[in-house]
Amino acid sequence: MKSAVLYGARDLRFEERAVPEAGADGVVVRVRACGVCPTDLRKYTGRSTRARFPLVLGHEAAGDVVAVGSDVRGVGEGDRVGVIPWWPCGRCATCRLGRFIQCPDIASIGGSVERSVMVDGAFSEYVRVPERAILRIGPEVSYEAASFVDPLSCALNSIELCRIPIGGDVVIVGAGPLGMMHVQLAKLQGARIIVSAKHAERREMARALGAHELVDPVETDPIEAVRELTDGEGAAAVIVAVGDPAAEEQAVSMLADNGVLVLFAGTYPPTTIAVDPNDVHYTQKVITGAFASTPEQFVRTVKLMSTGLIDVEALVTHRLPLDDLGEGFELTLDGVGMKKMIVS
Ligand SMILES: [Zn+2]
Ligand SMILES: [Zn+2]
Repeated sequence: MKSAVLYGARDLRFEERAVPEAGADGVVVRVRACGVCPTDLRKYTGRSTRARFPLVLGHEAAGDVVAVGSDVRGVGEGDRVGVIPWWPCGRCATCRLGRFIQCPDIASIGGSVERSVMVDGAFSEYVRVPERAILRIGPEVSYEAASFVDPLSCALNSIELCRIPIGGDVVIVGAGPLGMMHVQLAKLQGARIIVSAKHAERREMARALGAHELVDPVETDPIEAVRELTDGEGAAAVIVAVGDPAAEEQAVSMLADNGVLVLFAGTYPPTTIAVDPNDVHYTQKVITGAFASTPEQFVRTVKLMSTGLIDVEALVTHRLPLDDLGEGFELTLDGVGMKKMIVS
């Protein structure tokens, strides 16, 4: 099989490798779609300090099952599936508490979880994962849509942390693919959606997907703009979907009393932000992070797509063959278009 193997910063090589074996508890998937994600770019550009090389990236994958191990019960050859890109041990004290993403023995494909055991990912013709990392999808869900199960479930987790009241104001900072998924989910939650994003084209796409108000943070002071749009109250929730410390700092001041700030994006290089403790204490503002999702949220994510409640395919602007993966990375780094999808 052909695999795109990363040997170091921008050192991507295409190799012929053996198709992986299923093993007793494993499933081998013929990859049909795999999205390019900012997490991949951290390794591609050499900014990730934890990546091991050589490594096959790619963790937002969907395809057809071509082989299953002898212990596998819930999925069979020919099934169409989406892949959960990480799997906890399921046995340790942390897993028993249900905090699966914090499992010290967690594994992930393509290095999607930085501190995990990194298994080769899905920028390849085939990928092997354990059965518990498989989600079966119906014929109404395309491979491209199914490749969004991980990012969409992360956005679902994030939105649910916001506890947005119906009619409440939510600010989404950043309008990349994950910002757009937040817009669609906030719409389902009955929120009034304010999107702050630097690129005009992206703001307009946010409007098409359900945003009610748009803020250009370059032309206007985004804190002032949010205050004005909310009659001086501030927003019930702010989600920062860009790893930008200035935006993260501003977001605290966009919140209404009792509002919830979700820091959704990883911020690199590691840094600090300044927060006035009295601005949190006296107002009971909540500052939280959102990372990954729960097994139950993965199941609901598939439902969101199979019922058409969320349209993720609208976010795909580039479809590329595996041979053009390097171009997919560079386009993403340059901020061109929206989601880049490797298809076969
Ligand atoms: Zn991802
Ligand atoms: Zn564990």
